[in-house]
Formats: sequence, structure tokens, C-alpha cells
Amino acid sequence: MRLGSAFVVSSSGLLRFRISSWKNQDQAPVRARVHPHMTLSERSFQAVRLLAGVGRELRSPAPVATRETTPTGVPERDQVPETDKWDLTRLYTSKADWERDLKACSGPWEKLLSFKGRVTSCPDTVRQVLDEYLSTARVIERVYTYAHLLHDQDLRDDEAKNMYVRALDLHTRYAEQTAFLEPELVQLPDAYLEPGQGLEPYKHYLERIRRQRAHTLSAAEEALLAASAKATSASARAFSAMNDADFDFGSVQDSQGKSVTLSHGSYGTLMRSKDRTLRRNAFTALHQRYRGFENTLTELLAGAIETHVFHARARQYHSSLEAALSPNAIPVEVYRNLLDTVRKHGLGHHHRYVALRRRLLNLGDGPLHMYDMYAPLIPDVDLAMPYEAAVDSVLASLAPLGNEYVRIATAGLGERRWVDRYENRGKRSGAYSSGCFDSEPYILHNYDSANVNDAFTLAHELGHSMHSYFSRRHQPYHYADYSIFVAEVASTFNEELYSRYLFQTKAGSKAEKAYLVNRSLEDLRGTLFRQAMFADFELRIHEMAEHGEPLTPAALRQAYRALNKEWFGTEDVCIDEEIEWELFRIPHFYYNFYVYQYATGISAALALAERVLNGGTAERDAYLAFLSAGSSVDPMDALRIAGVDMTEPAPVQAALHRFGALVDELDALTR
Ligand SMILES: [Zn+2]
Repeated sequence: MRLGSAFVVSSSGLLRFRISSWKNQDQAPVRARVHPHMTLSERSFQAVRLLAGVGRELRSPAPVATRETTPTGVPERDQVPETDKWDLTRLYTSKADWERDLKACSGPWEKLLSFKGRVTSCPDTVRQVLDEYLSTARVIERVYTYAHLLHDQDLRDDEAKNMYVRALDLHTRYAEQTAFLEPELVQLPDAYLEPGQGLEPYKHYLERIRRQRAHTLSAAEEALLAASAKATSASARAFSAMNDADFDFGSVQDSQGKSVTLSHGSYGTLMRSKDRTLRRNAFTALHQRYRGFENTLTELLAGAIETHVFHARARQYHSSLEAALSPNAIPVEVYRNLLDTVRKHGLGHHHRYVALRRRLLNLGDGPLHMYDMYAPLIPDVDLAMPYEAAVDSVLASLAPLGNEYVRIATAGLGERRWVDRYENRGKRSGAYSSGCFDSEPYILHNYDSANVNDAFTLAHELGHSMHSYFSRRHQPYHYADYSIFVAEVASTFNEELYSRYLFQTKAGSKAEKAYLVNRSLEDLRGTLFRQAMFADFELRIHEMAEHGEPLTPAALRQAYRALNKEWFGTEDVCIDEEIEWELFRIPHFYYNFYVYQYATGISAALALAERVLNGGTAERDAYLAFLSAGSSVDPMDALRIAGVDMTEPAPVQAALHRFGALVDELDALTR
């Protein structure tokens, strides 16, 4: 996961305060790391976007993960040695310094606001406005970053919480006050971008905003759309309220007759239980709950889909898919190519995997059931290591990226103290990489040496941090952040290198090898196959709405069932009836074509890992150039710099090929 507070040009919003890129919580629960889905700030960002009338849909926030109970033996923050904590003094040497900055950037921003209504009056004004706007944004980002890191160190610390809330409030006010910028900049005359007008440093930045011009309506129409945004997002909010707050799943019984609480939080754990009765009971009870509300849930989902279609049509896009992808300049071929390629080259491997799963679970003559899909296949092995050993092995695995990369990473994990290593009382759980233009790319971790997944998490977060480091070092502030579309590439790339390294050097026994292979398989299954299936369903239901086909509970369920049959096959698995109601519990279907990026991200990462590992300095340098590109080019072009073209089948094929090879390997290792 990556947390980065940043003001960057977003696709359809000039102001984009991005707090996190997040992993789908619904994917194969192989990772130990928690992916807090979205923080408060993301909601305030949404509020701002809504105020600005951007008309994009809500992402429904999931609760931020915090530990309910702290195990005994966890120290208080002040008992943790300094060397095990991140060094925030590189950001602010004291809270007094932070207060000074907060005050300095708190407005009322008279100069900036004085440009309202005349932002594009001449090129020189545009430059002044952007200089002014970005220089304040940069300080606010710094103020915010410090407060949020301090807050996360110990969520019980009232002073830090107070700082955090004030920083958040400042950000929200700034975003609201500057919401006039984007609509004015959309109208920027072409001539302003000619050479010699003084806007070269902002050329791509402005071009991205201007691209929206063809889809921008008259001022009166835009005002009307903006005013309707709250009403048209009601379906998504209602689903979130129902799913997150109202649903109570009660409890289920395990094979011993013991009662176990069923909740969103426990469901993943129960699906990984070795107790098949418990898995079956949990699976059945959860989906029966959704079944009881299928009419309401259908209306909510249909409402969200129709909102996407409405906005796409109002803005004169050919389809809701095009509307969702175009702000980031992602061609619809990328989406269709993903689905076509998985269908053509992946489903065979996926069916073989299902057969292997059936064999390894020793189910006798009976088929695999949908509630067997996450049951553990391979016993845990002891690959545990202390933090220092994890650092050494992660750094060693990154050697293919060259001396400079390793040198910077070594310093980051070492004397520059990017990482807050261990758990302390009150600390936010999980792991993330976060920072801003003027900070180190910090990593929050809760490293537990008993769990090898935590070493993978370190590799993953370091991938994000190094991407941020390279982008910030090579780009000016306004291009220093990278798009969500590429956000998980560097992190997944590093995990892949780490997995291969451990496999080659540390895994001695068959059991250890099988463990690592299975780990990679589960990752690919959850991130590539499952997300591609979701993406396929999302496209289908949007097309149904666009073609005027009624979205009824039966129509939705049939479409979802058909996809499950196709994805899992029918030879080794029983497609249980309850799976049809799964569609009603996936929050991502409200996000407007979001999940495909998980699948394209891991595909790009695996294709690039192959390329770098099998290539020479040219391939490596191309990858480093990608890390350095930030948002100075569109995300598709950034990946082309690295050497992959996501409109082509090759990268997805490479990931599918890797999956197939891993299936063979696990099969051989378990004979
Ligand atoms: Zn990540």
C-alpha cells in the first residue's frame, strides 16, 4: 500500500489530494499486511471534488484498521529505541517549526484568490497563478504529512491528533477555496502553450486539464451537475452505510459446535480456516444475508451504474468505460485487452490451478466448493527472520536494479531512518509508504520477525518509497507524484524480485519452496484473476445499463454466475448457488472502473521484472527512468518508458505465463 499526501493534477480535478492507493481487501487474503482502505482525508478530498462538481463517483470508505486489542509485551512509544523509529526531525525539527509553517500557509490566500475569474487572461497570469497555488500547496502538504505521521505513531496522542485535524482542515479549506482554478484552466487558449509564452514548465500539466475541454459543458450546465452531485451519489453512500454499519452477520458454528462471530473482518480469516464445516457455514451465512436484501442491493448498485452512465452521456463520452478511463488518458483498449488476454491465455491455467487445489486439499471424490478457494494448501514453514536479516535479504534481492538504487535504499533503511520498524502501543496497524515532496519517503511498519510476510511487506513498501524518491528527485513538485494506474507497479516488482531471491537462496527444503511458490500464486490469483473477473462483471453491467437492459436481481446474478463458471471451470469445482450473491457485497463495483488497475498493475510489474532480470543495463535503466518520470508524462507513456505497452497483450501474457509456471512448480513440489 502506498500513502502519499499530495496535491497533483488529477485526471479530472486539478486539485487532487491523494492519501492512499489501496489494495483490494477482498482479494486472496495471503498478505499479512493491512491495507487501510482510505482515510478521513480521502473523504474530504471527495467532498472537495463534489463541491468542485467534478462529477466523479465516490469510493466507499472502509474502516481504517486499528488493532482492537494490543498484545501484552508491546512497548509504549517512548520505550522504543530511537534507531528503530523513523526520523521525523528531517521534516520538522520541532513542533514549534511546524506551527510556524501551518500559520504561514493558512491563508486567507488573498493574492491567489484575487485571480478568480481572470486566471487565463494572459500566459503570464497563468504562470503566476500556478506558481502561487503550487508553492502554498507544497507547504500544506508538508504540514499535513508531518501531522499524519505523528498521529499514526500513537493514535492515542491527543496533541498529535489535534495537529492532524488542523492540518486536514487546512487542506480542505485550501481545496475548496481554489476549486475555481480547474474550470478556468480548462478554457486555456491553445496559443498559450506555444513555445515562448513562458508556460513550458507547466505544459503537460495544463494539457492534461485542457483535455477535459471536449467534455466540459457550459457554465450553467456545469453548475447544475455540480449541484446534483450529492443526490446522484446517494446510492453509493447508502450501500456503504448498509454494508459497513447496518449489516450484522451474527455467528456461525464450527465442526465442534462452537460459535464463532461472523463479520466483514472475520470472514477472510474464516475462509482460511482448516475447518471445512466452519468455512461452509460462514460462506453460506454471509451470502444468505445478502440474499435477504437482494432487491434493495440491486437498486443501489443499479443506481450507481446509472449515475456513471448519466455522467458519461452528459459529458458526451461514447461509454461509461471511456468516461472513467479518459481522465488518465488510459485507452479503453487497455481494459478490453486485459479481459481478452486473460480469457484467451489465462483461464486454462486458472482451471489447472483449481484442479491442483482440489488435489492438495484431499477432498476425496467430492468437488471443490467455493468455500474451499482460500483454505490453506501448504503448511506454514519457518522462514522467519529478524528485521536486520529482512533488510539484508531485501537489499540483496534488489541488486539487479544496480548500485545507485541499492545505495539509496540502503541509506533509507539504515542511517536515514525512513522506517518506523516495530509495533508500539497505539500505533496504526499495517504498513504503508508515505511522504511528500519535502520529506523522506517514510515507511510505517509493524514488523514481526515471526512472519516472513512482514519481510515481503518491507520489500513492497520500499518499492513505493523508492518510486517516490526517484520521482521527487527527478521532477519538479507538480510532476513529482505518480498516477494510481502505475502506483502498485514498483512495489509489486520488488516483491517479485524478493520472492525469486528467497526461492533461490533461502528455500532449502521442498516445503519451503512450495510455501514461496504458493504465496506468489495466491497473490496472482487475487490480484490478477479475481480483479479481472470483477472488471469483466463491471463492464457487463455497465453495458447492460447502456443498452437499456433492466438490471434486475436475476439478471445480475445470472451474469455473475456465468462469469464464475467461466473463470473457475466446472470440472473440479461446484459453483455453489450462494456465490451469486457475492456480487452484492463487493464495494468496488461502486467505484466506477477501478479494479482493473490491480490486474494491469501486477501484469506490468511481472512483465518488467522478467525484462529487468533477463535484460542488461538498457532494460534496467529504462525501468529506473520510469521510476523517475513521476507524472511528467501520462501513465501509459511512463510504462512505455519502462518497456511495456499495456495496450498490447504481451505484459498480461507474461503475468499469466508466470502463473502457469508457478502452477506447474507447485504441482511438481507436492507430488
Ligand atoms: Zn502497495
